[in-house]
Amino acid sequence: MFGTNVGIGSQGILMDGTPEQKRDILPRVASGELIMSFALTEPDAGSDAASLKTRADLDGDHYVLNGTKRYITNAPRAGAFTLMARTGGPGAAGVSSFIVPANLPGITLGKTDKKMGQRGTKTCDVILDNVRVPAANIIGGVPGQGFKTAMKVLDRGRLHISAVSCGMAQRILEEATAYAGERKQFGKAIGEFQLIQAMLADSQAELLAGWALVQDVAKRFDAKPAHVSDPEVSMRVSCAKFFCTEMVGRVADRGVQVHGGAGYINEYPVERFYRDVRLLRLYEGTTQIQQLIIGRELLRA
Ligand SMILES: Cc1cc2nc3c(=O)[nH]c(=O)nc-3n(C[C@H](O)[C@H](O)[C@H](O)COP(=O)(O)OP(=O)(O)OC[C@H]3O[C@@H](n4cnc5c(N)ncnc54)[C@H](O)[C@@H]3O)c2cc1C
Repeated sequence: MFGTNVGIGSQGILMDGTPEQKRDILPRVASGELIMSFALTEPDAGSDAASLKTRADLDGDHYVLNGTKRYITNAPRAGAFTLMARTGGPGAAGVSSFIVPANLPGITLGKTDKKMGQRGTKTCDVILDNVRVPAANIIGGVPGQGFKTAMKVLDRGRLHISAVSCGMAQRILEEATAYAGERKQFGKAIGEFQLIQAMLADSQAELLAGWALVQDVAKRFDAKPAHVSDPEVSMRVSCAKFFCTEMVGRVADRGVQVHGGAGYINEYPVERFYRDVRLLRLYEGTTQIQQLIIGRELLRA
């Protein structure tokens, strides 16, 4: 919940917002007074986000928004949305990012999704029915820049998820190592069996590789101005997201395996981690989408 609010929920304003938008919104986000969500995905536009259908039609000094956003993290608790809608023609160039206060007439929320994991954060549909949003709420004030803003936000978000993956892998490995030291079978701690050690060793090596990658890419990301997007850095961000989220999936699987039957039981933390980490390979661009970004940039370069 915290990561989304100071991350994808509000980063678009930090990166591309006008000085007034920054002054109005960011201090309230930083203090926790205002919770923000990032609303890009729709029922028919997931991986292909540039095909989004939510309309924003100009009417005087307002835009009228109509459409449905899906799986929006924090939406049931959000005070405002960074929301992408179509102000122009088809494709990415027709998309604008809006700051949409959650209490505007015409906004309703779907029922809260029942998720496999990450249940501490709530997601649901956001339905817009003739919602009037001031034209001044377009992030940066210029229509047609919204898809670029969304992609810049996701670059940073993907790096964040890569780091989260390493943190979760570290915890899972600590849990598995502690259990391997305590649990006895065949008269000795299971940690003395080399097949158990191999699982721990594989996880440790992959975790260190992931963490080294995250730090390297984060340094490159921080070396450029936040509002500038660099395809080479984006490619590396996708490598980090791809590798680290897949890595923590393998670490979680081994974590359960080291625990034996106990790993399947909710009393042991690895059971929850196993479910929680599954989402990391899906949102903010699936593994396949990261692979496409990497492949496309290699060929372009
Ligand atoms: C719990 C949760 C929270 C979320 N929070 C947010 C949020 O806060 N804001 C937001 O905007 N969205 C959010 N999402 C949406 C999330 O980003 C999308 O679910 C994700 O991008 C995938 O889109 P999709 O579900 O439509 O899958 P699809 O795009 O339908 O993909 C289905 C499968 O097809 C594959 N695929 C698609 N296109 C290609 C291709 N060209 N080549 C190869 N394979 C392909 C995918 O990799 C995947 O395996 C959230 C989702 C969940 C589950």
